[in-house]
Amino acid sequence: MINIPKGTKDVLPSESYKWHYVEGMAKEVASLYGLNEIRTPTFEHTELFLRGVGDTTDIVNKEMYTFLDKGERSITLKPEGTAGVARSFLENGLFNGAMPLKMYYITPVFRYENPQKGRLREHHQFGVEIYGGAGADTDAEVIKLAKTLLNKLGLEVKLNLNSMGCPTCRAEYNKALKGYFADKLDALCPTCRERYHKNPLRILDCKEEGCKKLCVDAPKITDYLCDDCKAHFNGVKELLKEANVDFIVNPYIVRGLDYYTRTVFEFVTTSLGSQGTVCGGGRYDNLIAQIGGNSTPGVGFGMGIERVLMLMEAEGVEIPLPSPVKVYVATMGENAYKKAFGVVSKLRDNGVKAELDHAGRGVKAQFKYADKIGAEFVATIGDNELSSGKCNVKRMADGTTEEVGIDDLVKYFVGE
Ligand SMILES: [Zn+2]
Ligand SMILES: [Zn+2]
Repeated sequence: MINIPKGTKDVLPSESYKWHYVEGMAKEVASLYGLNEIRTPTFEHTELFLRGVGDTTDIVNKEMYTFLDKGERSITLKPEGTAGVARSFLENGLFNGAMPLKMYYITPVFRYENPQKGRLREHHQFGVEIYGGAGADTDAEVIKLAKTLLNKLGLEVKLNLNSMGCPTCRAEYNKALKGYFADKLDALCPTCRERYHKNPLRILDCKEEGCKKLCVDAPKITDYLCDDCKAHFNGVKELLKEANVDFIVNPYIVRGLDYYTRTVFEFVTTSLGSQGTVCGGGRYDNLIAQIGGNSTPGVGFGMGIERVLMLMEAEGVEIPLPSPVKVYVATMGENAYKKAFGVVSKLRDNGVKAELDHAGRGVKAQFKYADKIGAEFVATIGDNELSSGKCNVKRMADGTTEEVGIDDLVKYFVGE
């Protein structure tokens, strides 16, 4: 037997309705906010992620699925959703259309991570991207959208908010961080020692306990924001209050991607044991320029669908079951089966979910099957019924039966 690759998961037919529910709700909320869907390829040229996501990030350094295709091109399965959308925005000249451009996507993303940590190598994300809005209102709108969706899914989450500043104030902050960690290098993990030289901000993102402890007293980016960044951050906070979105300012949220500028945010939960991020995002005004376009402001987020489903289960959120089979037509004999096949076809033509035997089973086994799939009614047709033109319809929930003309079955159930 061939097994599923490590770190991947099947969505089984009995589970897929949960996905439909979450994705349907995401699309509904996105549409409410005026977003249209964008679909980009599962793989891109590796260079897009090197330039877009940044070559000091863990994702790019350790976690990408990169390979040479048969034409010797370096290809990467997308490790996040934003860079592909940015590439499409540029390549298709979408900046020439109506701005701001509001988009969402639902996509698989691939990261070569250790699956023992409960992280999958392929997982799925619902993401939002808005291009062309430089003001704090766009940040607040995107955050409110995420919050609306999470609440509609029945989830209680906390919003952590921060500003990472612009390249100007971040340079000052990086200096301050380097100063702070300069005499603590020995206490940092080997990865953070590297980060210290390349991108000290990343140290704040480290999951190692020792590093986390040292970060508690590190300088806060919020103390180093330039006047413009400070005004922008205050604007976001004011509008969130206006929109009834509670938040706490957490100056140590830096998000693991290089493209963020100014606002970054995470929706977190404690329902899955340790604190986990359900949704994260922010502003990335330099991304488009980084991949070769004219500077264009952008804001967005990504929400892990598997994470959302786990959380809904942990919090006991009930997801409506798909509608059951309305009527199962049980048959005895070849002539009855032919008739039943026509009846079931007509029922389906009229929008009634109907089913019949496909395995040549006896009536008893057909009833068992009908019960197993949760059919609401079972109509039985045999030779006697064919000659009388009438059949018994049994309501499975209480066992009551009613006699209905075979040719009236469609009318009977359409009216139901
Ligand atoms: Zn600034
Ligand atoms: Zn570390």
